Amino acid sequence: MPSSDPAPSLSLTGGPAPLLNAPTIQVALPLPLPQWFDYAPPPGEPPHAGMIGRRVRVPFGTRELVGVVAAIGGVPDGGTLRAALAWIDPAPLLGGELWGSLQWLARYTHAPLGEVVSTALPAPLRRGDAVPDTHRWGWQLTAAGEEQRARLRAGTRPQRLATLLADGVIDEDVLDTQMDGWRTAARALAKRALVERVALDHQVPAARAGAGPLPNPEQAAAIAAITAAPGFGAYLLDGVTGSGKTEVYLQAIVACLARGRQALVLVPEIGLTPQTLSRFRTRLGIPVHVLHSSLNDNERARVWAAASRGEAQVIVGTRSAVFTPLPNAGLIVVDEEHDGSYKQQDGIRYHARDFALVRAKALDVPVVLGSATPSLESLHNAQAGRYTHLRLKVRAGDARPPRVRVLDVRKRPLRDGLSPEVLQGIADHLQAGHQVLVFKNRRGYAPVLLCHDCGWTAPCQRCDAPMTVHAGGRRLQCHHCGARQAAPLACPDCGSLALQPQGIGTERLEEHLVQAFADYPVIRIDRGTTHRRDALETQLATLGERAGILVGTQILAKGHDLPKLTLVVVVGIDEGLFSADFRASEKLAQQLIQVAGRAGRATDPGEVWLQTHHPGHPLLETLVNGGYHAFAEAELQQREAAGFPPFAHLALLRAEAQQVEHANAMLSAVRGLIPEDAPVERYGPMPAPMPRRAGYQRTQLLLSAPSRRPLHGLLDLITPQIHGLPQARKVRWSLDVDPTDLY
Ligand code: ADP
Ligand code: ZN
Ligand code: ZN
Repeated sequence: MPSSDPAPSLSLTGGPAPLLNAPTIQVALPLPLPQWFDYAPPPGEPPHAGMIGRRVRVPFGTRELVGVVAAIGGVPDGGTLRAALAWIDPAPLLGGELWGSLQWLARYTHAPLGEVVSTALPAPLRRGDAVPDTHRWGWQLTAAGEEQRARLRAGTRPQRLATLLADGVIDEDVLDTQMDGWRTAARALAKRALVERVALDHQVPAARAGAGPLPNPEQAAAIAAITAAPGFGAYLLDGVTGSGKTEVYLQAIVACLARGRQALVLVPEIGLTPQTLSRFRTRLGIPVHVLHSSLNDNERARVWAAASRGEAQVIVGTRSAVFTPLPNAGLIVVDEEHDGSYKQQDGIRYHARDFALVRAKALDVPVVLGSATPSLESLHNAQAGRYTHLRLKVRAGDARPPRVRVLDVRKRPLRDGLSPEVLQGIADHLQAGHQVLVFKNRRGYAPVLLCHDCGWTAPCQRCDAPMTVHAGGRRLQCHHCGARQAAPLACPDCGSLALQPQGIGTERLEEHLVQAFADYPVIRIDRGTTHRRDALETQLATLGERAGILVGTQILAKGHDLPKLTLVVVVGIDEGLFSADFRASEKLAQQLIQVAGRAGRATDPGEVWLQTHHPGHPLLETLVNGGYHAFAEAELQQREAAGFPPFAHLALLRAEAQQVEHANAMLSAVRGLIPEDAPVERYGPMPAPMPRRAGYQRTQLLLSAPSRRPLHGLLDLITPQIHGLPQARKVRWSLDVDPTDLY
């Protein structure tokens, strides 16, 4: 990458004088600029290669920024060079494999290294805080404490604590389980210098690891394959829901720990349930470090530090956990590898699954991609021999696969989207004491508010999309920009009062089901009711094993086991059958199979009912008669014929501006940078599928090539130039390599 001084400055009076005639340090800064920035190193040592990967505080314009030394530069020829202010780390924070992999990621996403680094680091480290302490802490009696212990007043908290400590130091976590209010007591005793807090060795005594079930032959084969060789290998663990994939991960992790190595497990946000964690903890018998969105920044930084010191042996986390340092790596697992949440949709648009593969290769460890509905990319890679394909075809234990029934609802009277057969089926399952899941991938009351007299529909003022009806018709909300307003009482176009919610959302289903099944609990779960991660668990826990109904969106496709669930009703999937997005069929098929997998996990047989107006649609026919793999096979053939991924590689440039001309001008200029003979197809500039969102006009330019090399060659060439385009200053733009959503 080119390096230049962005903010040529007069040397400031005061401050330490920069070293003259010495090489510079080139610093990657968290800025949307492609270059590294030259500074004289902070006073002290002259630059040397051991500084690479260290964080440093530098002046930038009138601000102060934290950057990472990316390289040592040459001796500047004249001019004034600003001096970096201070080192943050005594030794490189980033080094080894992680540093190399982050540089790879910057090249692959064509993003500034400084921004990639700042995406990868927990916020406190990004801001320049010291790497936090990861000691465990304990309390012990001082010599004075030993002496005076017997004189403390009997029955008081301080006396009880002192008695506990009489046998020696106790870990704070252990004290939590042994005595309420010990902290107050400890403080009181510490004030009199009778006890003291001490850092403990990080070694936690190994608890007893729980025994798992005996693997069935398919599981045994998978475990054997994954653990056969410690070096790099990619494994696609392709197994229906309940086939025992998690069991395979656990056994592979046990083998990894037995070799004294670290294991990293990535899970989708909604897959990281307390249930899953306690399964990991009890089975492995060691602390499992968790990284997910509801941790605060300091907790994240602690886990990062513990991993970087090799203390954290098992790390389970969502997308960004893929950046965890693994100095002693032994295994990486990506559960539900097809899940869309692995792709970051703003900032640095990385794909955690793909980056996990890159890291596994660099670390020379096995990587396991698990799913009941593998992505077409991964299936394609398995077919091409790049991944070892491990199949688990039967459900573990005694559970049987659910029976699938397609309900043709053409000409059937629907009441709030539900057919009489479905209502009867729900009643039957409830009477048998079971649970029912009603799935509709649309939250809110109804997707549209329609004027029955003139056809007006309530639009969002800032987006090219209708507003969703909420609160039984009283409120309108835009699901794209978040705008909210009260629903109008009369049609703004014709004045009619005949405004009707049109279509079905989860709230409307809930309303109907509450009335129809008044004797049973009805629990709605969607992003409207589940702001916090544990809210889902709490809601599911309130249902327990009682007969009742869950109604919700795909949030319900995962998490918490529901052994009493025997009927899954899928209401109205027809919108998904006719989407313009070439990935829509894949997403729909995955959703259907995942939510269907909820039925009958235990001994009661499960049923899945699909309501549709298109019972003959090829996607449904293939999926129902042939299963996911038949669908995937057919879909891969279509993708190949159409030249879509995974048979093509895409990059999407997006531009947004208040005025569409600015966005178009920017992307036209980008198109102008592409050499005539570049072997890359270009589509656009053209309006994005949603041309206006949150008040911004959105334009895109799609680049496609049959292989990665020419596409990346072109991006290498033009990305630095894009940063310099005058048109780029008037827009917000982004480059998305391997986009998953062309919205
Ligand atoms: P998946 O991750 O594929 O959905 P799990 O590993 O969660 O499957 O297994 C589903 C259920 O079957 C769990 O309750 C698990 O304890 C049980 N199970 C897994 N493997 C076996 C086995 N070999 N024998 C008996 N029960 C098993
Ligand atoms: Zn009207
Ligand atoms: Zn909007």
